[in-house]
Amino acid sequence: MPNTRVIYWFRTDLRLHDSPALQAALGLHPEAFWPVWTWDPHYVYRARVGVNRWQFLTDCQNDLSKSITKLNKKSKLFLMREAPQTLFPKLFKAWKITHLVFEKDTDAYARDRDANVIKAAEEAGVQVIVRSGRTLWDSDLLVEKNHGKPTMSISQVQNAGPKIGLIPRPIPAPKSLPDPGPTNLDFKQDEPDQRPDFNGKSRQSADKSYEKIAGPKGDFAVPTLEELGFPSATSAHRGGETIGLKILDNIISDETYTATFEKPKTSPAAFDPQATTLLSPHLHFGSLSIREFYWRVQDIVTTFKGKASQPPVSLTGQLLFRDMYFGAQAKLGYSFGQTMYNSHCRFIPWHLPSKVNHETKLVTGEYHIDSTEAEEWFQRWKWGRTGFPWIDALMRQLRKDGWIHHLGRHAVACFLTRGGCYVSWERGAEVFEEWLLDHETASNAGNWQWLSCTAFFAQFYRCYSPVAFPKKWDKEGAFVRKYVPELKNLDDKYIYEPWTAPLANQKKAGVKIQGNGSEDVQGVYPKPMFDFGERRTVCLDGMKKAYQVGLYGDDAKVIDGSWRKLFDDHGEGPTEGESFEDAMGPSAGSEDKIREGPEHGFDDDGAIEEDESGAKEIGGESKGGEKRGSKRKAGQKTLDAHFKKLKTG
Ligand SMILES: Cc1cc2nc3c(=O)[nH]c(=O)nc-3n(C[C@H](O)[C@H](O)[C@H](O)COP(=O)(O)OP(=O)(O)OC[C@H]3O[C@@H](n4cnc5c(N)ncnc54)[C@H](O)[C@@H]3O)c2cc1C
Repeated sequence: MPNTRVIYWFRTDLRLHDSPALQAALGLHPEAFWPVWTWDPHYVYRARVGVNRWQFLTDCQNDLSKSITKLNKKSKLFLMREAPQTLFPKLFKAWKITHLVFEKDTDAYARDRDANVIKAAEEAGVQVIVRSGRTLWDSDLLVEKNHGKPTMSISQVQNAGPKIGLIPRPIPAPKSLPDPGPTNLDFKQDEPDQRPDFNGKSRQSADKSYEKIAGPKGDFAVPTLEELGFPSATSAHRGGETIGLKILDNIISDETYTATFEKPKTSPAAFDPQATTLLSPHLHFGSLSIREFYWRVQDIVTTFKGKASQPPVSLTGQLLFRDMYFGAQAKLGYSFGQTMYNSHCRFIPWHLPSKVNHETKLVTGEYHIDSTEAEEWFQRWKWGRTGFPWIDALMRQLRKDGWIHHLGRHAVACFLTRGGCYVSWERGAEVFEEWLLDHETASNAGNWQWLSCTAFFAQFYRCYSPVAFPKKWDKEGAFVRKYVPELKNLDDKYIYEPWTAPLANQKKAGVKIQGNGSEDVQGVYPKPMFDFGERRTVCLDGMKKAYQVGLYGDDAKVIDGSWRKLFDDHGEGPTEGESFEDAMGPSAGSEDKIREGPEHGFDDDGAIEEDESGAKEIGGESKGGEKRGSKRKAGQKTLDAHFKKLKTG
């Protein structure tokens, strides 16, 4: 098209392969084409982003920029350091833009941002083209086909998705790119407001990334961690389309692994290599297309000679879960990321609840410390000093590597919320937001609600023991020895319960089990911060009471605080009041208690089969080659048993 001058705005799609939006942009046959990234202060200051995710993002940007230059020597990723809302109106004029094209982003902030940019484009006479490409199906269409409701179960996705149509086949990467036009920036840069800076604590020096709009050398370069004031990354997992596609190639080359993948059979204790794909950060940044992933796997499954696994436990099933959470977020917007005002999140009187601005209906980013004990437990959980080696190893892996296996996430999330500390899931979600490489609001908030049994899943009496559960996967504790080196020489017998090791064994292993972990002393590992059995009972009783009361985040009683009258102990400790009825009894299931979720509240995210009772047989070999647990007998003191006792007692 003559005189077509296009900005292609990269955001959630740091790739050239299978990009429907990029295809639409190139289909305009522009005379000038600028691949652009805007360095948005919202993410720099108002989102919690740890150093490892900054590294991963900038890896993706540098790799993409190189790939663009390979296709056209005059081009690159033109990264500009200003908020898109203020930058674009100026760029539209300066570069005489006719079209702005980008991939759809249904995150709540992104919707607001894009609405502003689209308005500015319309005012400037610039045509905007938006294409879905971040999920298997367009999340808004998924909601539409789910009768206009958020997708709260995998079966809803499996019903609604095909009504939109077949998941499109991936599109090949372009073979050439048009030249960019002139890149004059003869306008004033709008500098961002740096406060509040949610990442201030992690910076070693002030952020300098906004000093010049096109970077220190004026060459539109990707900012460095140094410019952001951060220390070096600690994770070995690196970003970029080149790496993402290579990892996928490796996985696909193992046809049996790809076709027979069953999530519950993958070990959360496996490392080097881990038992699952570790492609989540690539899907998050779009350095791998989800449809590329889906079809490469599906094609193997279709031609596989043996018995292939099926959703939800199969590899393609995992991708459906991601679409489910995106569908829920697409409908619920900002409220999906919090309890308050969330129509689909159960209200549980957790400790350390979020502070809320009732005018905006949004959480402020701060929380109430209603219990100093709970705050201490939360901090010990966050920094991997609970005294439970399994939990501590996982939290240290998260901080150092930016990734933990799904079942590991289950274990730490259950422990912080309904299976130990009784602390709000929102505190845990914030820590994950900061430290995960793959953090995305939809998947993070959704999974935290699942694990805390506030939405999606309701079997709160299924709980992960920090001792029995890891023993099933890793009897010798190799995973703990790697991430909690204080314990590396401890006998297998004590590795998950070091406080039971006699002094002579502690001495032999060169470790003392003492204190509360407040001081980082070499050769010392803390005592457990509580009696897990006792805490499990307290939590279980609290959950039962909260289920029986049956409030959701948007209930007037939750918003005005009068919920307290319904919990005769104000939600502290055991909350089983006189009016207690069995929360899972007939009345609970028959009403609209689990809003638009699984009919009985029993859905499976492909990883829930195992719980503390461990009665199921799970055998075979994981990808890492570890022999996994054989049949375990249900323990006599399982939560199931506890629950039944309470039911009949
Ligand atoms: C408390 C908690 C928080 C989580 N936060 C996030 C998050 O912020 N971002 C994120 O991508 N995943 C999150 N997950 C989901 C899941 O743990 C990760 O997607 C998965 O472990 C990533 O490893 P993988 O790529 O090896 O997964 P694989 O098992 O190889 O699965 C393939 C892909 O499917 C998707 N997927 C798998 N399971 C889920 C799931 N339950 N929910 C959504 N997508 C899924 C991921 O994109 C993943 O890369 C969270 C899970 C829990 C329990």
